[in-house]
Amino acid sequence: MDIEIRNLEKAYMGGTISGVVHAVKKASLKIPSNTIFGIIGKSGAGKSTLVRLISLLEKPDSGEILYNGERVDSLNGKDLIARRRRIGMIFQNFNLFSSRNAEQNVAYPLEIIGMPKKEIEKRTKELLELVGLGDRAKSPISKLSGGQKQRVAIARALANNPDILFCDEATSALDPQTTISILKLIKEIQKKMNLTVVMITHQMEVVKEACTHVAVVNDGEIVEQGLIEDIFFKPKHYVTKDFIKHL
Ligand code: ADP
Repeated sequence: MDIEIRNLEKAYMGGTISGVVHAVKKASLKIPSNTIFGIIGKSGAGKSTLVRLISLLEKPDSGEILYNGERVDSLNGKDLIARRRRIGMIFQNFNLFSSRNAEQNVAYPLEIIGMPKKEIEKRTKELLELVGLGDRAKSPISKLSGGQKQRVAIARALANNPDILFCDEATSALDPQTTISILKLIKEIQKKMNLTVVMITHQMEVVKEACTHVAVVNDGEIVEQGLIEDIFFKPKHYVTKDFIKHL
């Protein structure tokens, strides 16, 4: 699934004295299918807003979003729900249900679509094995480490066979070693499931470790984008240079 955005704009009321925050400004981007695409920027640059737009959680004020060449920003109702089901998302704080154990968390999106119980059991088991937690199915979330929690979140995100996976600062709460193991898992899953992965981060290490392409966001604008090797060897924008300097 390739993704293209054209001239996306999003502003919010409130926050500043003038009353308007231009979180995303005329952003255009091409995310090739079957890649791990990094979106990097400092805190407040507009990354999360961009992700909420690209993942169809929020509507842009103007501009276009295309999946495989088809407009998706205008989807509504049932079509939007169906399209959103094929988008997986994971977050920095995992967003798991603490009242449910590991397998019940993974089962949740399958319950929502009304999958029969026996099938849910089978699928949940497969997914937990895929993320290396086959033996922790009954573990309460509170008994799992950060890395294990993110593995449960990944299994849940993959439950409905998505074609796109968004990772929003997915490794930012993890120690360096756990970060490496989670990125390795994401790389394996990307290949196995032919996923397009969009990875939002403020850490250049993450981009270097996992991504083939990167876009740099600064003050709501995409200031640079391209293949990792090109950006690393010939950074143009000062923000990109700054990120590389701190590697
Ligand atoms: P990042 O993810 O790079 O830290 P965000 O997309 O969260 O950046 O924020 C970009 C800008 O938009 C910030 O100035 C932030 O305060 C503002 N912003 C984001 N979401 C909202 C919102 N729902 N309401 C008002 N302002 C927002």
